Amino acid sequence: MFCTKCGTELLERDKFCNECGASTGVGAARQPERLTRPMNDAKIAGVCVGFARYFGVDPTLVRVLWLVFVIWPLPCLGIVAYIVAWIVIPKDTAALPSRQFQAANGPAA
Ligand SMILES: [Zn+2]
Repeated sequence: MFCTKCGTELLERDKFCNECGASTGVGAARQPERLTRPMNDAKIAGVCVGFARYFGVDPTLVRVLWLVFVIWPLPCLGIVAYIVAWIVIPKDTAALPSRQFQAANGPAA
């Protein structure tokens, strides 16, 4: 592996170039995004948005698919799955917009 910036030969595990400090993307590429519920884009609990972000698809597509699972193949299967996901998937507090942040922590004078 060689640095894309300066061409210095690097080890496969190197996260940064030891010559110019450029990121090799080693750690970043192998670390998948965590499955969380971003509350800033949530319609109910952010479950669909969380899955959409995790798989890199449109949140509306996930919502439509999830609604299909509510009625097919078993009634309520989608509802049970949603509640389970709601409980299991952690809330993405970092994605909270300032408006909700202020509501939770009191208005900023
Ligand atoms: Zn370099």
